[in-house]
Amino acid sequence: MTVNDILRHKGNQVITIEPTATLAAAVRRLAQHRIGALLVTGAEHRIVGIISERDIVRVLDEKGPAALGAPVAEVMTRRVVTCDRNETIAEIMERITSGRFRHVPVIEHGRLVGIVSIGDVVKARLGELEHEQNALREYIRTA
Ligand code: AMP
Repeated sequence: MTVNDILRHKGNQVITIEPTATLAAAVRRLAQHRIGALLVTGAEHRIVGIISERDIVRVLDEKGPAALGAPVAEVMTRRVVTCDRNETIAEIMERITSGRFRHVPVIEHGRLVGIVSIGDVVKARLGELEHEQNALREYIRTA
């Protein structure tokens, strides 16, 4: 199973925000879409960072509610780890585990074509395990 199989089900939509937007705007967008991270994009949809709910919680703890007026660019992670659609679920699980993050944008020819979250990866893996279990049951039943 690959990233492509996940994207086929969930689609290519990626919710983004501009680096100049405030953290309050980022909070609103995360809540409206019920997601945990936003890709930060600049001119020509270029990825300039990623901001997750964890970044916002951290800065709120450090600076208090006034931090909500700060721009996203001040808080986002700039070095974004990405993947391509032909990578396997196992490769993405390894990247998420070693990087200690829960979101991986999917890039094709330099363009953003989707995002996979830890939830998508776990769901895909559970589906795969169920499929394997059914195949084994069938094998035992007919052996
Ligand atoms: P998350 O677990 O995705 O909420 O993110 C935890 C931390 O990792 C936050 O500081 C995020 O900005 C950062 N982060 C999330 N996804 C990525 C990614 N794909 N590449 C690099 N950093 C990331």
